[in-house]
Amino acid sequence: MSALPSNQKPRCASIYGPVKSWRFGRSLGIDPVGIVSTCSFNCVYCQLGNIQQQTTQRQIFVPTSQIISELQVITQREIPLDVVTISGSGEPTLALNLGEILAATQEIFKQPKVVLTNSTLLGDQLVRKALSLADIVAVKLDAVSSNQLRQINRPVETIDLSDIIQGITQFRQEYQGKMTIQTMVLSAWTTETQAKYIHLLKLFQPDEIQLNIPSRNRTVVRQLESRGNDIQEIRAYTCENFQLITHEEINAMAATIHNATKIPVRYPTQN
Ligand code: SF4
Repeated sequence: MSALPSNQKPRCASIYGPVKSWRFGRSLGIDPVGIVSTCSFNCVYCQLGNIQQQTTQRQIFVPTSQIISELQVITQREIPLDVVTISGSGEPTLALNLGEILAATQEIFKQPKVVLTNSTLLGDQLVRKALSLADIVAVKLDAVSSNQLRQINRPVETIDLSDIIQGITQFRQEYQGKMTIQTMVLSAWTTETQAKYIHLLKLFQPDEIQLNIPSRNRTVVRQLESRGNDIQEIRAYTCENFQLITHEEINAMAATIHNATKIPVRYPTQN
C-alpha cells in the first residue's frame, strides 16, 4: 500500500493524520475533544497553544456516532498505519464516551489502540475502566514536585501531584496492557529531581519510559492543525520553541534512568 498524496489526506473533523510519531510510527489520530481545546492542564509547551477550556469535568464533546462514521470513511482508503491514537485537542479522558470510542475503534481497526493521557483523571474508576480497552496507555509525568507541576503543567487549582501519583499507582495495579510513562523534559534536571523521578518510576514499574523533548513548535494561538505534526501547516502561524535541553543532556539523563530502573528508556534521538 502507498501513502496518500498530501492533497488527499483525510480532513475529517475528528480524525487526523496519519502523524509520524517517533514513539509509535504511523499513527492515525482520533480527537474526541474537538474544536475547543479542553484540558485539565495548560502546559507551557502544549502544541495546541493556550488551552481554551481548562476543566476536570468529563463530558461528551463529539458524538460517538460521528467518530464511527468518520472512521468508516477512513477505512475505505488504503492508508498504512502502525497504531490508532486517541489524543487530539486536549485531554482524551475528559471525553465521557472514551470507552465507546475505543470499543468502536477495536471493531474497525486491527492496529493497536493508543491513548495519550495527562494522568489527572486516573483516580476516576470510570476513566480506568475505559482505558482498559486500550492496548497502550502513555501516562504523562512531567513533574516530581508540586512546584514543578505548577510551573510546567499549570493544572486547574484542584489538582496536585499527590492526586496524579495516586491515580497512576491505581491504574498500574489494574491495567493489563502496556503502560508507558511519557515525560516532557524542557531543560536538564538536577540530580535531586532525577532521584525523585527514579523513585516514582520504581513505584510505578511502567513497561517503558519515553523522554520527550519539544519537537514541534508551539502555536501561540489555538489552531486545529496543531493536533498533528505537519510542519508546513504549522509554520503558517506564530510559534514558540521551548527546547532548552541538549541531546547530550537527554542522552545522559536516559542512561542514568535506565541504569537505576532497568526499564527501557526511549527518546527521540534514537530514531
Ligand atoms: S496535557 Fe497535553 S493537551 Fe493538555 S495542556 Fe498539556 S500538552 Fe496540552
